Amino acid sequence: MFIDATGDGDLGALAGCDWEFGEQPGRQCPCQPMTMNALITVPDIEAIKDFILLYKGDDSSWSSYRNQARQRFLVELQRAGVKPSYGVPTLFHIRGSLLDLMANHEYGIRPFDAAEVSDATIRARAEIHNIVRALRSLGGIWKGIDLVATAEQIGIRDGRRIKGRYQVTKEDLMRGARHKDAIARVTFGVDVHATTKKENEKQAISRKGVHTKPYDIPLRALIAKDVDGLMTAGRCISGDFLAHASYRVTGNAVAMGEAAGTVSAIAARDHRLPHEVDWAAAKKVLKRM
Ligand SMILES: Cc1cc2nc3c(=O)[nH]c(=O)nc-3n(C[C@H](O)[C@H](O)[C@H](O)COP(=O)(O)OP(=O)(O)OC[C@H]3O[C@@H](n4cnc5c(N)ncnc54)[C@H](O)[C@@H]3O)c2cc1C
Repeated sequence: MFIDATGDGDLGALAGCDWEFGEQPGRQCPCQPMTMNALITVPDIEAIKDFILLYKGDDSSWSSYRNQARQRFLVELQRAGVKPSYGVPTLFHIRGSLLDLMANHEYGIRPFDAAEVSDATIRARAEIHNIVRALRSLGGIWKGIDLVATAEQIGIRDGRRIKGRYQVTKEDLMRGARHKDAIARVTFGVDVHATTKKENEKQAISRKGVHTKPYDIPLRALIAKDVDGLMTAGRCISGDFLAHASYRVTGNAVAMGEAAGTVSAIAARDHRLPHEVDWAAAKKVLKRM
């Protein structure tokens, strides 16, 4: 048994599975942009709280969701002379004086092209340094802002979607699909970041007009169609572009990993293939965990 949890579906592709990528047929971009986030600190968090989307107040609650924070932050960046590649640059408060800065978009990058990913990583990191330097140059409340860390590799939203025995579709999201072999119920809506610079100018994030109802991901979407003994978990499972834009987030990836691990273990123990595993029995194992 093998489980592809590479995010980009590297194992499935190498094993010979059919796969899809991006918004249209052809395995090319347009695709969701990549983003490098950064950890930053400021000496006085209170002084900049109006620019923070999610501000953790003294009571440590996350109640302070500041609707206009992103617009205010964008204006502040423009005042500093920078135009970030992500149309709605965002600050998230982590704790104390530590913040997460999300201000970067890299468009048209295919995650299975190492050179493109390296270029995007270098470009993104340079942009973050530039933004932090520009804010610092404003002085005042931004005096003393510091870059703590950037990831060693840029964050990837869109990757290969390995074809499974079931493909989760936009229609499933709209009708709130139910399945007997459900391994997770998704409540997160469609979240498509602008696929081009031009689109970003108009709308940086969009639901693409899809109104979702909570829907199930069936186990079959985690079982490769073309290669026996292979399961997938996380953002590389079987789905279309818009379904992926919804189920790709962390909470769902965790449930998928748990289900794929359990079914794979039972398959290995019983000398069966994953699609031959009795899902009702597997569910009992999951419940005990
Ligand atoms: C900028 C950004 C912001 C996001 N914000 C949110 C958010 O606020 N909330 C949320 O829920 N989700 C968010 N997401 C989405 C979420 O982070 C991912 O979709 C989720 O992490 C997908 O999990 P995954 O395990 O499928 O893939 P990944 O997180 O990509 O994990 C795949 C892992 O496999 C490893 N790997 C790949 N190949 C190999 C190999 N050959 N050998 C060993 N290891 C390998 C990789 O290094 C990586 O660690 C965001 C994503 C991005 C890019």
